[in-house]
Amino acid sequence: MRPLALLTLPVVLWASFAAAAPEPPAPAAPGLTAGVAVVDITPPVGYRMAGYFSERLSTGTHDPLMAKAIVLRQGGQAAALVCCDLLGLTPAVTAEARKKAEAATGIPASHILIAATHSHTGPLYYGVLRDDFHARAVAAGGSDPHEQVDYAADLIANIARAVTEANAALRPVTLAVAEAEPSPPLAFNRRFHMKDGSVRFNPGVLNPAIVGPAGPVDPQARMVLVRDAAGGRPLAALANFALHLDTTGGTLYSADYPFYAEQALRASLGREFVLVFGTGTCGDINHIDVKTKDRLKPDEIGARLAAALGQAKERLVARPSLLVRSTVVDVPLQTYTPEQLAAARERLPQIGKSGEFLKDVEACKVLTLEARGRPALPPEVQVFRLGDDAAVVGLPGEVFVELGLAIRRGSPFATTLVIELSGDDPDYIPTKKAFAEGSYETVNSIIAPGGGERLVDAALRLLKELKAAGE
Ligand SMILES: [Zn+2]
Repeated sequence: MRPLALLTLPVVLWASFAAAAPEPPAPAAPGLTAGVAVVDITPPVGYRMAGYFSERLSTGTHDPLMAKAIVLRQGGQAAALVCCDLLGLTPAVTAEARKKAEAATGIPASHILIAATHSHTGPLYYGVLRDDFHARAVAAGGSDPHEQVDYAADLIANIARAVTEANAALRPVTLAVAEAEPSPPLAFNRRFHMKDGSVRFNPGVLNPAIVGPAGPVDPQARMVLVRDAAGGRPLAALANFALHLDTTGGTLYSADYPFYAEQALRASLGREFVLVFGTGTCGDINHIDVKTKDRLKPDEIGARLAAALGQAKERLVARPSLLVRSTVVDVPLQTYTPEQLAAARERLPQIGKSGEFLKDVEACKVLTLEARGRPALPPEVQVFRLGDDAAVVGLPGEVFVELGLAIRRGSPFATTLVIELSGDDPDYIPTKKAFAEGSYETVNSIIAPGGGERLVDAALRLLKELKAAGE
């Protein structure tokens, strides 16, 4: 970590730019303020858990699930970034939470990013499988013993509360960026070229039929560190790393490896430090190294991630200048035939028990498309400029790493955090190349090939606009 005295530098630099203006003397640069808040979103024990294709009931809590919010304000600009320890979010939840948060704080809904971390040890509160489990429980017993709360309604209120409380805790801050590559690596591409010419996801460790990975990784972890301008105490960091949050399993609620990363960073940054984890584009990335039987555990992953980020050199964000842009992209959805729909409906009660995984996934996809009932998704791409050299992008869905890399490489900002599962969870967002290769993620995707590349184009356009825009 850098000495604290240096951390007030961006304000000083800002002031010196402003001071270059002609007479009369320019007013002090508009200060950057931030607030942080955390709200517990753990459902009751016994609620269904998300992440897999069969019914799974929670039996307890390893670590509570949280909605964590950072609110930033500078001059007339305001933004909120919220990350929730959940597999995903629905557009209904995020739209309502943003509306409530805007009403309470005045932060425009379009300036509020709400993302899920993709923890596979959180509640199953939406989707075709949840709807089926719930309907069957109600049919059997008159009510659903595993849904004794309206989780979606509670979640909306809790997210809005997190934004409201963060907005009430505003104080002058400085922003710094830290980037690091954990070594040995934590993230692996999980799609492989096989000797038979196919591409397979998770083909199994030490599988002799593996030729090599079918895609890259983004090995770099990044964080934007928010420090109290008076004294330099670290309040929070928005971290970003492209690695699937499915390293825990079991039936205890847990935020997965970011929980351990936060615990480890608190040892050096203080007990009240909050790690807001914005999951990177990890649609095709997990923690399984097929070259060894040794599997990384969530505590090891969190500790190594924290060690890499904690030891990384901080760079002050140059000339903090908050500005937000967003756009809605037309992403066509896949189509299905009446026969496929009939087959999916017939299959629904057997999903998770049939032993034919990809057929189960395909049935879920067709039923999800039917439930969405639209020819296209209207996904929102949000971009937040933090300063001359740092920006944050929010995209919906489980985005393939190549798409996130394309945004980071094409971005005019030196540091660009790309957060997936923002606003909506339309399952996987593969590349056109992956659609041609097939396997699990392309079956578990509702978008038509090319949709992911459209999101990249939109993000790059907004990044360039924000780079060119004034304050
Ligand atoms: Zn996933």
